[in-house]
Amino acid sequence: MKKKLPQDIRNLIVVLGDQLNTDSAALRDFDKDQDAVWMAEVASESTYVWSSKIRTALFLSAMRHFRKELEDQQYSVLYTELDAKDNKGSLDKQLKHTLSVHQPQAVKLVEPGEYRLQAVFEKVCTQSKIPIEFVEDAHFLASHEDFARHAEGRKQLRMEFFYREMRKRYNVLMNGDKPVGDNWNFDASNRKSFGKSGPSGVPERRLFKPDTITQDVIQCVNDLLADHPGDLSNFSWPVTRKQALQALNDFIQDCLPDFGTYQDAMWTDEPFLYHSLIAACLNLKLLHPREVIEAAEKAFQTGDAPIEAVEGFIRQILGWREYVRGIYWLYMPDYLEQNALEAKEALPDFYWTGNTSMYCMQACISQTLQWGYAHHIQRLMVTGLFSLLYGVNPKEIHAWYLAVYVDAVEWVELPNTLGMSQYGDGGIMASKPYVATGKYIQRMSNYCQHCQYDPAESVGDKACPFTTLYWDFLIRHENKLQNNNRMRMQLRNLQRLQGDKKKAIQQRARALRSQAI
Ligand code: FAD
Ligand code: SF4
Repeated sequence: MKKKLPQDIRNLIVVLGDQLNTDSAALRDFDKDQDAVWMAEVASESTYVWSSKIRTALFLSAMRHFRKELEDQQYSVLYTELDAKDNKGSLDKQLKHTLSVHQPQAVKLVEPGEYRLQAVFEKVCTQSKIPIEFVEDAHFLASHEDFARHAEGRKQLRMEFFYREMRKRYNVLMNGDKPVGDNWNFDASNRKSFGKSGPSGVPERRLFKPDTITQDVIQCVNDLLADHPGDLSNFSWPVTRKQALQALNDFIQDCLPDFGTYQDAMWTDEPFLYHSLIAACLNLKLLHPREVIEAAEKAFQTGDAPIEAVEGFIRQILGWREYVRGIYWLYMPDYLEQNALEAKEALPDFYWTGNTSMYCMQACISQTLQWGYAHHIQRLMVTGLFSLLYGVNPKEIHAWYLAVYVDAVEWVELPNTLGMSQYGDGGIMASKPYVATGKYIQRMSNYCQHCQYDPAESVGDKACPFTTLYWDFLIRHENKLQNNNRMRMQLRNLQRLQGDKKKAIQQRARALRSQAI
């Protein structure tokens, strides 16, 4: 039986859609006779960026399962569903309404992962004259203060140095003071392509069949957000902690040994390859990063996975994931406004449909709309690279990444998009823009075999748009980049181009920007 709401609520604990852990710091002193949990599904969170149906369905289904878990444990939960009659449409309006009806003594929540939301909750509580307390998020391995300390006095914030500190601090893959295998980084042995024969024996992934809770959510999202991108017919993401643990175990057992080797490879109709698919579970807090790292390290210790794979994987979680969060909180809110390359183009429409003649873009976007998933290199070196070369305004491409992936939450998406992929922060995240011609995609995938364009050509009808726009990018930004040592080789190659060729490239680049590709 459901627990009744306390008549006079002492603490109203706000739980957001990406805070679904029962060991949350905000629930630590929860008194089941005096306190209540507050959760709300609101349309504005799906419309402020044009969120895909899959992303919204994942959040809502995980939230409803979490409500059930809490109610089964006799927590009182004040929950508003998306199609509820008294749904006010936004978090601030919904909370304001609850505060006026129930008048709790205080509101408490874990600090939101997104900068925007902290201000929203503070404002509502101030207006309602109810005290609010934000508690530190215990889900992460580096606090804001830890990262600020790391950043102090450093000219550059490279991930590698932060990662080494974290390895030592948490004693992960360490032999005393030295890294296991006498190497901090095994990238040189990783990141291979599949070669001509393509992948073989890629493990089949477990699909989590929608239960009745998820089916209700799917119906609701299809009804209320019918014009949003994406398709729910394949929805099969983990939505509970139990399922998240199954997904983690499957990955460790079946995929981790090959994770490093094929981390950067891409192949038609193989959306998942050896990737873990757990970013959404981590970001919604169905999994804790510590348990993920421990599971991977154990696989190395028991001889079930090689050091190259295990280190490569742990680097993503203990290194990149914590580092991008540090960057986000250190530089927000100004970070969102940065546009170091003054990119002004609108996002091409095909990002929302996959309807383009570029095979690699069509493959990565279609997969994204079908599953809400693309792996890192598909994001960085296909959809992200195209946007960078084309000159899309960073805010527009940021809104796209935040809308279409099941794991998209701003603290991790924004630095990856604006910083790493678009060089919009002028080098805070990346030491140089990640630019390449279509030949990179040809080397790492089989996409070009199916494409009407030729990655070796930069001008003419068969020229690969990536290749044309790569040279055009260097021409446009030559002055800005000439003091960057890591760009020296690429700029030297640019200087070898004859004037006529440069003109022809620029002409074709202009044409690409003015027509549907
Ligand atoms: P795996 O490849 O199996 O990696 C393991 C885990 O490491 C991931 O689950 C993730 O938690 C972590 N990780 C890996 N790379 C990164 C990274 N660069 N930054 C932070 N964590 C990382 N990741 C998100 O979680 N949410 C996002 O919204 C997001 N947006 C991105 C946008 C762009 C433009 C780019 C280039 C990357 C983005 N990433 C984002 C990082 C990365 O692409 C995804 O974490 C990864 O593809 C998720 O798939 P996976 O779980 O199979 O990861
Ligand atoms: Fe993509 Fe160019 Fe290869 Fe076509 S030729 S798949 S556009 S990289």
